[in-house]
Amino acid sequence: MLQSLKRDHCRGNEELARHYPDLQVYGADKRIGALTNKVTHDEELKFGDINVRCLFTPCHTVTHMCYFIWEDNCPDAPAVFSGDTLFIGGCGRFYEGTADQMYKNLTQILGTLPKETKVFCGHECTVTNLKFALKVEPDNEAVKEKLAWAKARDDKDLPTVPSTLEDEFDYNPFMRVTEEPVQKFTGQTDPVEVMAALRTMKDNFKKPKETLPVPALLALEWGLFRP
Ligand SMILES: [Zn+2]
Repeated sequence: MLQSLKRDHCRGNEELARHYPDLQVYGADKRIGALTNKVTHDEELKFGDINVRCLFTPCHTVTHMCYFIWEDNCPDAPAVFSGDTLFIGGCGRFYEGTADQMYKNLTQILGTLPKETKVFCGHECTVTNLKFALKVEPDNEAVKEKLAWAKARDDKDLPTVPSTLEDEFDYNPFMRVTEEPVQKFTGQTDPVEVMAALRTMKDNFKKPKETLPVPALLALEWGLFRP
């Protein structure tokens, strides 16, 4: 079950299909290698007791699909496999889409799922995401707590995935585009404009230690000394 046609998600499909000729490969983009079942928005699939609802979330790629999963007669919370759309504390880059699409993805498609839904994202970039979140909202206690927790997990080589949707609304700036501190930070009030500004700022976000002071950068550029 594939979310994206990008190679970091579907590399190796063809080889798997060679080893397992009956393999069923689900996805929304016919360019996904060895694809056998093309799925569409809101389509529901059943694998034994496991139910899957396909959620079309274009932006990182034009055919990105998230999968909402729950099990019959099971007390556990449902899960969403959010791929390159929603990360813990962040969201995917807008490679093939717009801020308007990501806003809809995060608020109308994923944001309306049950609050207790566990979020399993496609990449582990929680600490970097939360460092940016702290820059956006330095007074947000939920950001501080989650960042300290994520750093501790990272130090022990333990995963930070999953979180829950409810938690994401507390510390993920991309889920908080209608909150005043986030609007203030971006200098925008329209939620889609806030989303666009946040993404641009995050794309340019560097940890302070990695950035040389401006005079040093200029000196390098002018060839005054070698790095
Ligand atoms: Zn990816």
